[in-house]
Amino acid sequence: MTRTREIVALYPGSFDPVTLGHEDIARRTLRVADRVVVAVAGTATQAKRPAFTLEERVEMLQEVFADEPRIECIAFQGLLVRFLREAKADFVVRGLRAVSDFEYEFQMAQMNREMDPEAEFIFLTPDAHLSFLSASLVREVARLGGDISPFVSPSVLRRMERRFGEEDA
Ligand code: ADP
Repeated sequence: MTRTREIVALYPGSFDPVTLGHEDIARRTLRVADRVVVAVAGTATQAKRPAFTLEERVEMLQEVFADEPRIECIAFQGLLVRFLREAKADFVVRGLRAVSDFEYEFQMAQMNREMDPEAEFIFLTPDAHLSFLSASLVREVARLGGDISPFVSPSVLRRMERRFGEEDA
């Protein structure tokens, strides 16, 4: 079978910071898509101040995926369904770590589907050893001076050390 058009996946999130779990999902997505657009949401859904600016989060993603030309990392503002169309992506990909992710992800997908009936969502599970990882836990461990090297790429680790080292100073 010959395909005339490439399949593009949109992977949105806050990526504050990108963890090995996010990385696993983005690389895994290349098994079902030709290209992945990793999109950092500029509009926070929960009222919380991020540890890294939008620009920093995009830069960290670009560093992590520098070896993979099929993964593009950008920022976006506003409604996901609107951006999905703008980016001409075929579907949204999200990671499911455990049953606890399911309720929120399912609700979000249905809400978006309500706004755009064409929007498709695909859920991938990470490698088992990454299924406990979340960016918020990684931030928490870093804040308390713990070793986060098993959870993030070396370039992210360096930025985290700088950021959370500063807070101790
Ligand atoms: P987090 O929940 O870590 O703060 P985001 O809000 O940036 O991350 O989430 C973006 C997407 O990545 C979500 O679909 C989330 O479920 C998924 N995700 C986050 N961490 C992991 C992980 N360790 N394994 C699989 N998916 C993950």
